[in-house]
Amino acid sequence: MTTTPLPPVWSTQRQPTRRGVLWLGLRCDVRCKFCYDELVSSREKAWMPVGEATAALDKFRHFYGNEFVDFMGGEPTLHPQALDIVAHAARIGLRPTVITHGMHLAALDRARAYVEAGIHDFLVSIHGIGDTVAEIHGRGRDNFARQMAALDNLNTLGVPFRFNVTMIRDNLTELEAIADLAGEKGARVVNFLTFNPYFEWTAQPEIEFQARHSDIAPYLARAIDRCTAHGVEANVRYMPPCQLPGREAHVYTGYQLPYDPHEWDYNSWYDAGHEGPPSPQWYGEASQRQQQRHHYVHVPACGGCALQPVCDGFQAQYVARWGGDEAVPYAGPPITDPTHFIQGQRKLSYQQADPAGDGTAEPAAAKTHVGTHLPVGDDGRAGVKRVRATAP
Ligand code: SF4
Repeated sequence: MTTTPLPPVWSTQRQPTRRGVLWLGLRCDVRCKFCYDELVSSREKAWMPVGEATAALDKFRHFYGNEFVDFMGGEPTLHPQALDIVAHAARIGLRPTVITHGMHLAALDRARAYVEAGIHDFLVSIHGIGDTVAEIHGRGRDNFARQMAALDNLNTLGVPFRFNVTMIRDNLTELEAIADLAGEKGARVVNFLTFNPYFEWTAQPEIEFQARHSDIAPYLARAIDRCTAHGVEANVRYMPPCQLPGREAHVYTGYQLPYDPHEWDYNSWYDAGHEGPPSPQWYGEASQRQQQRHHYVHVPACGGCALQPVCDGFQAQYVARWGGDEAVPYAGPPITDPTHFIQGQRKLSYQQADPAGDGTAEPAAAKTHVGTHLPVGDDGRAGVKRVRATAP
């Protein structure tokens, strides 16, 4: 089946996201230097079986009321039944996005197969320009050229795409060029992500490629402005808003993420068990849990900051390495609305995406599905299901 494209609309209305996320497995054919998964044993990188994936998708759609889903990896396009899983999502009214390095979409037939399966859009990781991509990937040949061929194929097929870029020392001087590339190729959105020292990185005090916020900010500010000039939505993830004065409307910490339609619903992400869309208060409490789960802390200067109730602060490893001198508190009474700044951003949204679930009745069985992810634990990879390979 193909999916009728949803007309995009630009909006300043901030509603809780209706997007779920499903990790299909952690296998990948490149080895990005900042990847979380490199230290995960290969025994735990099996692909999620199709039956398990479709059960999770049914629960996202019919229990949590999600309308979109992101497929994560590893590299999801390597899943041997990725197309079947994408097709199931599309069939039940859960518009599918694949998060990918994109290189396998350089084959036009493979890209077209996703169109036939009902893909909504792709989120393509573009971490640099030219040779920088292969250097960051650590594996592969003609990486950047294949990514460009993939984007051209998606344009040929009329499939929308967005960019993710993880900002590290290696690519800071290329952020503006990535913004220009987004404009040239027609990406709708660019997400600029700080490197997050989560999971296996948490205990490493010196990470060679990690960049300070104050080193990133000048390049990033110009890249945001270039995106805006090109009509491309620019988002910054996990950087305290005070690091980008004048551009706070683009900045999303864990408190703002639930109000980005392209981000993940904490409810289905963690299989939290709230049937249907939760309230803003629920999302506020979920944001606090996320802040604690990923070890964000407020530094002394945050104590006098109006934004503290809705800002993550800095990650603990970051503070241990560099301290908190970069914090610049906002004056005034406490701000408790997480959308305080981001409601000033014109943002890509979609016409209501069929909240009733393409006319089908809710299957009773959907409510009895077991959890879709591992339980949340401090030492665990919360929200990511490691799939163990079965013994031969
Ligand atoms: S709470 Fe701290 S990190 Fe967040 S904006 Fe305020 S000063 Fe910056």
